[in-house]
Amino acid sequence: MSETLAPWAVRETDSRGRRLPEPAPRYRGEYHRDRDRIIHCTAFRRLVYKTQVFVNHEGDLYRTRLTHSLEVAQIARTVAGALGLNTYLTEAVCLAHDLGHTPFGHAGQDALNRCMADYGGFEHNLQSLRVVDELEEKYAEFAGLNLMFETREGILKHCSARNARRLGELGQRFLEGLQPGLEAQLANFADEIAYNNHDVDDGLRAGLLEIEELRDAQLFREQHDEVRRLWPELGGRRLVHEIVRRMIGRVVEDLVSASRASLEAARPASAEAVRHAGEPLIRFTPQVAEAHLALKRFLRERLYRHNRVIRMTTKAGRTVTQLFQAFMEEPRLLPQDHAAEASRKEAAQGMAGRARAVADYIAGMTDRFAIVEHGRLFDPRAHT
Ligand code: MG
Repeated sequence: MSETLAPWAVRETDSRGRRLPEPAPRYRGEYHRDRDRIIHCTAFRRLVYKTQVFVNHEGDLYRTRLTHSLEVAQIARTVAGALGLNTYLTEAVCLAHDLGHTPFGHAGQDALNRCMADYGGFEHNLQSLRVVDELEEKYAEFAGLNLMFETREGILKHCSARNARRLGELGQRFLEGLQPGLEAQLANFADEIAYNNHDVDDGLRAGLLEIEELRDAQLFREQHDEVRRLWPELGGRRLVHEIVRRMIGRVVEDLVSASRASLEAARPASAEAVRHAGEPLIRFTPQVAEAHLALKRFLRERLYRHNRVIRMTTKAGRTVTQLFQAFMEEPRLLPQDHAAEASRKEAAQGMAGRARAVADYIAGMTDRFAIVEHGRLFDPRAHT
């Protein structure tokens, strides 16, 4: 397999390996095994009932964290192949990148972070790492999934200096100002490409955005006008989908050609050289970077701050906050195994330990479970 990799790709032979060494897999590569472990884990399945912008019960057609993660992986695999990168590692990072997300997307994460302010905070990115390192209960020999170093490093896309010091080898690059591998850099871009585009699609579907106003965003306008020119009669879903698929194609092509150019200029001799390159080598051209950012800004102003979305996210934030307060006040409200974990952690770390166990429990909830659990705790008519 390694003969198809470019010199700058991550190779398992150069890996820093797993925290607990394991025998090599028989029929797969190491990163292939990581990808499979992620797909088999519980947190991955829960992504199907977690949302980013729209709460899950709003409709069946919107993206969930699961379909989002699949779209990210699929976009990134194509680019990885074109650049000679390690596609299994790329895919593993993409599929795992959102495992630590709370219910209700960013509203849930912000609320939980506020609740955890005195106890070390809550960050979904760090939580994704906690899921694969500690929280998954899949194997007899170790907690978590015991993934390869480079997969774990890719999942941790940003990190405060304080947390970086706590994370040891994994946090090192944040302290030394080094770049992550190209596969991890790519996963980041694929994440942004996926959500920018599917949020356009979902926003139109939900009636929160109009085609005409989207023409304010250059990336949309260019493709829209071209599709309209080619098929003047086209309307409805096919018009929207044709525009969105072209928008994805446009930025993916730009990502491949701009990254190829920067790799050819920098010629990193190895994945290790990529870390010391001083700047990320996966990139858009400046024009597309700007247009992509403009679309992101457009979505922030018109979609994420839309009155209907705010009404939803406010409720969501309140739900998470009240769950947190209830469990903190009375940990015996937690299911038995989580209550036991809370008291173990409290014995070791005081209230911060209790809070972490509560945050882990809440972060693991799906949207619908959080809604039901909230009802059970706060509505006296609900079954306990
Ligand atoms: Mg994402």
